[in-house]
Amino acid sequence: MSDYDCNTCGKKRRPDLSQIREGDKVSFVTATQRGRSIRISTKEGKVLQVLDETLSIESRKKLYRVNKGDATPQGAPSPLTYALCGTCDCQAEG
Ligand SMILES: [Zn+2]
Repeated sequence: MSDYDCNTCGKKRRPDLSQIREGDKVSFVTATQRGRSIRISTKEGKVLQVLDETLSIESRKKLYRVNKGDATPQGAPSPLTYALCGTCDCQAEG
């Protein structure tokens, strides 16, 4: 049981994205079109720049621009986990 599991709904709690700073390691999701299928993969990289809602992330010498909502800090479940398990909205109600 991790800190990110919600006891109320069983979904995953959102990470605190405001904690992401330049130099932090994050996980993020990229989608690559391959023929007729789209391949989704999770990558890890280092944040080079935080620009409002966009992160510049370096991963294996490549630069990615990722929406903050598509990235999670290291230690948090990967964005794919949120897609599979669902994201907790309990806090929004309270
Ligand atoms: Zn919840």
